[in-house]
Amino acid sequence: ETLDKGLEKSKSSFFNKLSKAVAGKTKVDDDVLDNLEEILVSSDVGVETTLKIIDRIEARVAKDKYLGTDELNVILREEIAGLLAETNVGNETEFTVPSDKKPYVIMVVGVNGVGKTTTIGKLASQFTKSGKKVVLGAADTFRAAAIDQLQVWADRVGVPIVRQEMGSDPASVAFDTLKSGVTQNADVIIIDTAGRLHNKVNLMNELTKIKRVMQKVVEDAPHEVLLVLDGSTGQNAFEQAKQFTKATEVTSLAVTKLDGTAKGGVVIGISDQFQIPVKYIGVGEGIDDLQVFNKIEFVDSFFN
Ligand code: GDP
Repeated sequence: ETLDKGLEKSKSSFFNKLSKAVAGKTKVDDDVLDNLEEILVSSDVGVETTLKIIDRIEARVAKDKYLGTDELNVILREEIAGLLAETNVGNETEFTVPSDKKPYVIMVVGVNGVGKTTTIGKLASQFTKSGKKVVLGAADTFRAAAIDQLQVWADRVGVPIVRQEMGSDPASVAFDTLKSGVTQNADVIIIDTAGRLHNKVNLMNELTKIKRVMQKVVEDAPHEVLLVLDGSTGQNAFEQAKQFTKATEVTSLAVTKLDGTAKGGVVIGISDQFQIPVKYIGVGEGIDDLQVFNKIEFVDSFFN
């Protein structure tokens, strides 16, 4: 039901447009398909994914000869679910910590303001609740506020944090955090990093350096690179995903702020277009407002 609430705005906006598009029409014809295409694009599903969906519906119209507009919901749900099922990357699992990876190191990347710190706090809470010992590392040393904000979350969850002054070397913070984590026998270490996309080469160099230095402590760290994207920015989230995946190897995605936006369709496009699993979605500012992303549940919730 959190998911339903989180998707409320996206759904009402989508179905409003859809009902206007089919007003006075009983049959799915070229006009309806054109309108549908526009609606999907304007719901931030993305052009590429929209075209795939339209193709599938067209094929169905061709095959069945007649599709009533009253069936459009059901058909959309089936075709989008089918499309997402085909992009079979990392189906709906949360981060599981393998017993032979201790500490399990998660490096979190993303542009400032997307909800990185909040997502780290929520993750730390989930791991802690499942009995894992968590240590956080404040390697976003570019902004004092980022360090303080992570501290607030560490205090809220009750986990240790490793930090240095603002402006210190992020790689050095990451190194200290891993050292400290190993000493404290931590199960999970989550490293916050700065996301300065305006200079891709710097970003790439910085992330590479952080990784290299971490590997001096934990050979195969990081085990996960989680890219956090702000779902409410729609197409910008796509753009950021493209940029970050060029700068570093990203292993999983979190899409935040799906509550309070009508751009929830962006998750459908992102799931379809990046061969990287969306693992989590953020549906609020609270500590429990992070959900494991399940493609089918998401589509069902959207179209029910
Ligand atoms: P960072 O700069 O990427 O670390 O971003 P923060 O974690 O500080 O988040 C920026 C703002 O977005 C804060 O006000 C958060 O409370 C808010 N925020 C983060 N995730 C969500 C979410 O899933 N839903 C909503 N509504 N707000 C969120």
